[in-house]
Amino acid sequence: MSSLTLLIKQLQPRTDLWDWQREALCRNLDTDVFFSCEDEDRGARIRRERVAKQLCDACPVRRDCRDHALSVGERYGVWGGTSEADRRCIDAAQPVARQPKPKRLLKISPRHPAPGRTPRTVPSCA
Ligand code: SF4
Repeated sequence: MSSLTLLIKQLQPRTDLWDWQREALCRNLDTDVFFSCEDEDRGARIRRERVAKQLCDACPVRRDCRDHALSVGERYGVWGGTSEADRRCIDAAQPVARQPKPKRLLKISPRHPAPGRTPRTVPSCA
């Protein structure tokens, strides 16, 4: 398999990750009920979030939506029946599970030339 074929395979759309959105109850609704406006006071926010959560309660993809919001750290809006504050509480309760895995450190051979230096050339036998 050529590297181009491999690259094309890796670039295929992953609709399996997003197909749940096609069944979302809010798919064609105005997003105002799920997201706050700039000058929203506390009472208005509580009422808006209550309405949004009622919609989410009837949504067939509520769990997928909530999992998505938690996995990507959605900071704003009501997702899967959870408000911004709800998700902060969930994250605070599960801090270890949400932490990204530590990156693997690149190991550099001690024989590798220092940055900025050109590698030694091996004399040819010819
Ligand atoms: S759970 Fe709520 S926010 Fe998520 S797709 Fe359903 S209606 Fe929309």
